[in-house]
Amino acid sequence: MADKLPSDWTLDDYQYQARKSAVYPKEGLAMGISYVTLGLAGEAGEFANQVKKVLRDDAGKLTADRRAKLILELGDVLWYCAMAADELEIDLGNVAAQNIKKLQTRTEKGTLQGSGEGR
Ligand SMILES: [Mg+2]
Repeated sequence: MADKLPSDWTLDDYQYQARKSAVYPKEGLAMGISYVTLGLAGEAGEFANQVKKVLRDDAGKLTADRRAKLILELGDVLWYCAMAADELEIDLGNVAAQNIKKLQTRTEKGTLQGSGEGR
């Protein structure tokens, strides 16, 4: 495997490549989305656990080693995001674009803070 990947990859490029390593049960009603949802939550937990270790083991300082571990876990989260997008039959870049549009609308309406999806 190459050490250096193209820095100009789009999210859709990433999703395409991530799909090649997607080995999980997809049979049955909602099996695929259920599997990737559990994986996404698990990897988010692994990311959070590394942040916890910053507090517990690293005196609240982000060391180079911890940063590297966090980046690896963030990549795992991204992989499951890509597979969740696959399960929903949408390009990851489209998900990102819709999210930015939602945030821009909230910014324009002055509703970035607060709660609820209908802001
Ligand atoms: Mg992980």
